[in-house]
Amino acid sequence: MDSMTGGPGLEKSDVLFVGGYGRSGSSLLDAMMSAKAGAFSGGEMASLFEWALGGKPCTCGVMVDVCPLWAPILADLLVEMATSLTVLADLTRGGRPTSEGDRQLLAAAWAFVFRELHRRHGVTRVIDSSKTSGRGSREQVLLKVPNVRLVLFIHLYRRLAAVAFSRRRGNNYQLEAGVPGGSNLHMAKGVLGWVRANLNATRFCRSQREVCSIALAYEAFAADPELHVSRLIDLAGWKSPCPHAVTGSHAIAGNRMRRRPWDGAVSPDLAWTTELPRGWRIACHLIERAARRLRIVPSPESGGSTANWPYAEERLS
Ligand SMILES: [Zn+2]
Repeated sequence: MDSMTGGPGLEKSDVLFVGGYGRSGSSLLDAMMSAKAGAFSGGEMASLFEWALGGKPCTCGVMVDVCPLWAPILADLLVEMATSLTVLADLTRGGRPTSEGDRQLLAAAWAFVFRELHRRHGVTRVIDSSKTSGRGSREQVLLKVPNVRLVLFIHLYRRLAAVAFSRRRGNNYQLEAGVPGGSNLHMAKGVLGWVRANLNATRFCRSQREVCSIALAYEAFAADPELHVSRLIDLAGWKSPCPHAVTGSHAIAGNRMRRRPWDGAVSPDLAWTTELPRGWRIACHLIERAARRLRIVPSPESGGSTANWPYAEERLS
């Protein structure tokens, strides 16, 4: 138990966290960063317990609960902590955990997971793109994990109209299956989710001054991904390569592209500019403008100087 709760000899792992809302390029950022820096790509790690419990797929192609990387770690975790996936999954749903005891349990579980990734697979750099939509306040949980060093928090954000349009196309499962799924309700939920996730990310950046945090617009990233990935690797202190022994991809949740071969090409998705109905475009524009005024997302006028974001504002067009 001592080693699990941060006792002597517990080596720290570097974690790079991607905050903000989904549909903003985080899967692409994650894939490029992990390839270049030799980091382990964990995907939306906050959902690990839920995905294992729900029989959902790992990017390696099999279900998380039988994945050759995650299944043995989870099996040992449940024995060592005398808990169940149901308990751990419950703690990561919604806004929980609420009590100090719950927070400690979750932090101890994650300490075990990071320790085992390190011990079994030599993983010392992890990219966690759980975002900040509220699921268990992942970013706050990570701060409490004794063997985690949060080296960089990336607040990735995208034009609201593009996010809403992406939601209208359906969720990742529907897109993967090729069935049309979205509706106006999905778009409305996307708009609310965008506000909440960006607000959470902004609050975190402002309140956690000791964590290096940056804001990055998807549009700027997609225009020159190589350049941004190099800058981000510099900021994380990940310049020298750091190999690990994980074979294949074992990311949790995220974009469907992670479960398919990818040729490395990046093409900014601009269909929303012509296909999103005018009423929605105007509404998104107004909400986004208000969000900038309230400093929920960086505004071009602020020069990106919000709180401790050391990254120059990348202008939204
Ligand atoms: Zn896997």
